[in-house]
Amino acid sequence: MARLLIIGCGGVASVAIAKCCQNSAVFKEICIASRTVSKCEAAAEKWRPHTKTVITTAQVDAEDVPALVKLINDYKPDAVLNVALPYQDLAIMDACLEAGVHYIDTANYEPEDTDDPEWRKIYEERCKKLGFSAYFDYSWQWAYEEKFKKAGLTALLGTGFDPGVTSVFCAYAKKHYFDTIDTIDILDCNGGDHGYAFATNFNPEINLREVSAPGSYMENGMWVEVPAMSIKREYDFPEVGMKDMYLLHHEEIEALGRNMPEVKRIRFFMTFGQSYLDHMRCLEDVGMLSTTPINFEGKDIVPIQFLKALLPDPATLGPRTKGKTNIGCIFTGKKDGKEKKLFIYNVCDHEECYKEVGSQAISYTTGVPAMIGAMMVVTGKWQKPGVFTTDEFDPDPYMEALNEWGLPWVVDDDPVLVD
Ligand code: NDP
Repeated sequence: MARLLIIGCGGVASVAIAKCCQNSAVFKEICIASRTVSKCEAAAEKWRPHTKTVITTAQVDAEDVPALVKLINDYKPDAVLNVALPYQDLAIMDACLEAGVHYIDTANYEPEDTDDPEWRKIYEERCKKLGFSAYFDYSWQWAYEEKFKKAGLTALLGTGFDPGVTSVFCAYAKKHYFDTIDTIDILDCNGGDHGYAFATNFNPEINLREVSAPGSYMENGMWVEVPAMSIKREYDFPEVGMKDMYLLHHEEIEALGRNMPEVKRIRFFMTFGQSYLDHMRCLEDVGMLSTTPINFEGKDIVPIQFLKALLPDPATLGPRTKGKTNIGCIFTGKKDGKEKKLFIYNVCDHEECYKEVGSQAISYTTGVPAMIGAMMVVTGKWQKPGVFTTDEFDPDPYMEALNEWGLPWVVDDDPVLVD
């Protein structure tokens, strides 16, 4: 029976909280701590009547390491689940090390200020050395490996759906279906419709930074970078139908490329409708996706943060969104000397998610694996000293938990491949 400190109280957190409350056999107590404590209190009030889990709340600025250490020392959790923003990853990892608790998150580090000269210098060297130019990468968190090892603590990185479940699917395919995997295509399809001309399904700033970055994939251990949205395919997704999808850079490619070096090609595709792409291109062209502050009437504003204030809050999309998501991985490789292909995927229904926890499927498909990752760590099923992604543990208990906690998966051994 564990005590979990949850940091952040946005769209993803609200599902993780709901799922911890459904799972009171493991999560005896949770503390929800975030910048805006009223959101934590509202979540606590919502779930208290329906759970045995004891819920407390706290206000914390997750960039403030001493404040985090104090909160951790006062609450004494078994682990910290970071579902705030990627900007806070390093500060929360530092606090976990200082206070001696395990760390779990759903997205790898990226800096809020991409003009910071110290960060920029390292970033530009990395772009040249590795060949991809997204702002987010694992190097910052992998650099904590020795510290976590020495402290005997586990840091579990990226336990959302993608990354997270997709990497568990890869470990599962490798363990049960293949002697060697040659290619992995990760496909993320959102067939949902919220009725707005333009809105993002999770934090707009993080989402738009991700999809406006150049695309890239890994081939024979090397990154190949292409202009944003320049590689397009069509795919007929089970239970969703035919959709256009575009190759994106995505963080699990980096971890899988390191941990499964035998795989010859790893790509990631995400579906986008024409309206989303037209709006994004226009916003980019006029400078609204910029992360560089501009001075407007005497006040510095960051265009993408101002845009976030204008767009619908992803947490409010739940009641409006209809349709399904289909996210999974297509593998090719060999088993017993024979060529083999496989598709492992989950289908999630926006309206069903809303009925169950009051959130749309994007928050749901991230929040459920966040709870499962935390459960793996606090129950000791996935505990080893160091910094790990979800492909580096036994996938079986995690796969069982997906079936149990709302994200059942399907194995198709004759899928259509992506060319
Ligand atoms: P939201 O913007 O909805 O929520 C973020 C929360 O973090 C808010 O409650 C916010 O507080 C809080 N926060 C921000 N800054 C601080 C701070 N300095 N101190 C304390 N709290 C802070 O984001 P989402 O829920 O959509 O996303 C959460 C995380 O999940 C992100 O890291 C995102 O990248 C990741 N994600 C991962 C996916 C995956 O599949 N792996 C998919 C989707 C998202 P406030 O209310 O005050 O703003």
